[in-house]
Amino acid sequence: MKIARRVLSAVAALTLATCAYGFGLQGHKAIAEAARMSHTLSPQSRAAIKQIIGNDDLAAIATWADEVRDVMRDTGPLVQDKNSPAYEEAARFIKDFPDNPSWHFVNLPLGSTTYDANGPFAGKEDIVHKINDCIAILEGQASKMTRAQALRFLVHLVGDIHQPLHVGTGFYRFDRKGQSPMLVRDPNEVTSAMRNDRGGNLLFYTDENELHGYWDTVLVSQIAGPNYMRLAKFMSIVAGKNSSAWESKGDYRQWPGQWATESAKEANHVYDTRIKFGAVTYEDKKLKSIRIELPGDYQAAQLEREVVQLAKAALHLVQLLNQIKWVNK
Ligand SMILES: [Zn+2]
Repeated sequence: MKIARRVLSAVAALTLATCAYGFGLQGHKAIAEAARMSHTLSPQSRAAIKQIIGNDDLAAIATWADEVRDVMRDTGPLVQDKNSPAYEEAARFIKDFPDNPSWHFVNLPLGSTTYDANGPFAGKEDIVHKINDCIAILEGQASKMTRAQALRFLVHLVGDIHQPLHVGTGFYRFDRKGQSPMLVRDPNEVTSAMRNDRGGNLLFYTDENELHGYWDTVLVSQIAGPNYMRLAKFMSIVAGKNSSAWESKGDYRQWPGQWATESAKEANHVYDTRIKFGAVTYEDKKLKSIRIELPGDYQAAQLEREVVQLAKAALHLVQLLNQIKWVNK
């Protein structure tokens, strides 16, 4: 990690008490706002964004993808008024794209050194394919998805793909009683039939709190408190200082795969080798939870990784927006 120590002590100074704001809200909005604020966002890209959504407020569209998924569980802001055009739009989208919840991630085994678009763990509905689909729609490809919806998903998924647990996941072996989970760290020993923890969603470090949410919410709130604008400003500084080192290279259609590869590598560290695995529960023979114990210094050890991934997401989002060959319709 090449991030300046001084910047990290600034994080420590900014840190407020833990709040229940997440990557879902704070992280996604901060990444989008950092992109909007960026002086390197090209005038053409900004004009195209304004043409599609009426302004350049990317933060306002950054969480729609999660809100649509919430509608499928009958929760979230869009179900407050089921007669509203916003609800109707979400309901139609869900009908057209019932698989949309799987667009937010890909479950690669730990130790994966590359995202293989044709490999056993990838698929047409995974996050890499879907970012590329959104690019194609914004470049004029016909779809039931509107350009506004494609832009909302693009902004959101570029955030998700930088969260290591949206790409890497733990696969396990168990004893004959289905207990004593053994995390498999060699990807060659993993088959897609093996049980996995769904990107840490099934790894509980307390009765209610799981590791995926820890990365989505707890760590994000530790960086700059509950204010996404403040986090966005900080991300801009960190991204600016590291822009040449972190810049994506080559064909932009290959970037989502490259970002997934980078996140998969980070996931190895998210699964700290000192994590202790305990009792396992099942529901209808499906894995429901694995109790874990995090090392005492887990937060201190991981905060820098979270800062880097958020700032990379902001930088890469601007880069991608600048590469898109926008069509005006
Ligand atoms: Zn998401």
